[in-house]
Amino acid sequence: MHSISKRLSILFIMCTIAAILLVTLFVNITVTNKFNQYMVDLQNKRYQRIVTYLEDVYKREGKWSEDTGVELMHEAYMGNYCLTLLDQTKKPVWGMDPNAIKIQLNKNAMPVQDKGVYTTKSFEIKVNSRIVGYVDIGQYSSILMTEEDVNFKDSINKSIVISGALTLLIISAFSLYFSKQFSNPISEVARMSVNLSKGNFESKTSIKSNIIELKDLQKSVNLLAGKLKHQDTLRKRLVSDISHEIRTPLNVLQNNLEAMIDGVYPVTIEKLHHLNEEVIRFGKLINNLNILKEFESESTKLKYETIYLDEFIAEICKNFYLDADKKSIKVDLTIQPNQMYLITGDKDQLKQVFINLFSNVLKFTELGGRMQIKLYEKDKNIVVEVSDNGIGIKQEDLPFIFERLYRGDMSRHKIEGNGIGLTIVKNILQLHIASIDVESKVGKGTKFTIHFPK
Ligand code: ADP
Repeated sequence: MHSISKRLSILFIMCTIAAILLVTLFVNITVTNKFNQYMVDLQNKRYQRIVTYLEDVYKREGKWSEDTGVELMHEAYMGNYCLTLLDQTKKPVWGMDPNAIKIQLNKNAMPVQDKGVYTTKSFEIKVNSRIVGYVDIGQYSSILMTEEDVNFKDSINKSIVISGALTLLIISAFSLYFSKQFSNPISEVARMSVNLSKGNFESKTSIKSNIIELKDLQKSVNLLAGKLKHQDTLRKRLVSDISHEIRTPLNVLQNNLEAMIDGVYPVTIEKLHHLNEEVIRFGKLINNLNILKEFESESTKLKYETIYLDEFIAEICKNFYLDADKKSIKVDLTIQPNQMYLITGDKDQLKQVFINLFSNVLKFTELGGRMQIKLYEKDKNIVVEVSDNGIGIKQEDLPFIFERLYRGDMSRHKIEGNGIGLTIVKNILQLHIASIDVESKVGKGTKFTIHFPK
C-alpha cells in the first residue's frame, strides 16, 4: 500500500526518467552522428591537403628523395596517422612505422573505432595529369580524433548528463509539492469521515485547494456532516418527543386513576370522559407512529383507482364545515371550471392528506379566520392550494415541518398535535409522485401547494 503522494511522486519521477533517457539518447545519437560526419569531412580535407602538398613539392623538385615532404611526418605522428611515400613504380621512398602510432594511441588511451584494425588508403600524386607517385595514409581508426576532439565530445555528454540530473531533481521537488496538493485534502476528508463515524458532527474540513473536484468533495463532505448533524438532532429530539408524548397521557391517567382508587377523586362520568380522551390521544399517537413506520419500511400497498379530485375534495370539505363553524372560520373552495381533475390514486390515503392539511388549518387559525382551497390546472399538473390566514410558520422552521415529530417552537405544543401529520402527508404524496411545497409568514398565514402530475 502506498500513499497518493508517494504513488504520484513515483509516477512523475518514472515519467521524467523515461523522458530524460529518451532525450539523452536522441541528443547523443544526433550529436555523435553530426560530430563523426564533421570529422570525416575534416579527414577528407586533410587527405586532399597532403596530396596537394606532395604534388607541389614534386613540381618544385622534379624528383622524389628521402627528404621530400618529411616535414609532414610530425603532423602525421601528432594526428595519429601513418604516411608512406611511394614513387610511380610503387617503391617506397620513405614511410612511417605504424607500430609507433599504435604505441602512442595506447599510451594516451585514445578511443579507436572499427576495433582498432589498421587500414590504409592510397592516393595518386599527379603532376600535369601524369601519376608521379603515391601516398599511403594508414590509421587504426576510421575516424581520427585529437585529444581536444575527445574532450569536446566528452564535455557535450557530460552537459547532457548534468542537465538530465538537474531536471530530475527539479521535477522530483515539483512532483512532491503537487502530489501533496492531492493527498493532503484527501487525507483531511478521510480524517473528517472518521470523526463523523465517531459521532463528531461538528467537524468541518477547511481544505484550501483550487482543484474543482477536491473543492466539490470538501463541499459534499461538509454538507454530509451538516445533514448528519441535523439527523442526529432530529433523532435525539424524536426520542425525547416520543417519550414526552407517551409520558404525558400516561402520567395523567396514572395520577387520576390513583386518586380515584385512593378515594381522593370521585369517579364521575365527566372524569372518566377526560381520562378516555387521554387514552384516545395516546392511541392516535401510536396509530400515527404505526402509519409512519409502514411508510418508512415501504410496506404500504396502495389501492389505485380513478379519482375526480374536484368531487373528492368537496366531499372531504363537507366534514370540516361544522368544526370550522365552531371557530367561525370561513371555508372557501374554488374550482377552476371546464377542467377534468382526473388522477389515479389511493382514496383512503389521499383523504388522509387533505384531512391532515385541513385540520392543521383549523388548529393554527384563530377565531374568525379563513381557509381557502383552490383547485386548478397548470403546466400539465393538477394543483391544489390549501391556504389560511392563521399564525403562520417561522422561516427557520419551514425546512423541517415535514420531518417526523417536528412541531416548530415550544409555544405550539399547547395546541394538540404530535408533529407527524405533515410527515404522513409528504410520504403519501411521494407514493403518488406528487409534490408539496409550503410558503408561510408568521402572523399572515400559510399556503400548502400540491402538484399532481396529470
Ligand atoms: P401537528 O400538527 O400534529 O403538530 P404536523 O406535522 O401536521 O404536526 O405539523 C407540523 C408543524 O407544522 C406544526 O406543529 C405547526 O408548527 C406547523 N404547521 C402545520 N400546518 C400549519 C398551518 N396551517 N399553520 C401554521 N403552522 C402549521
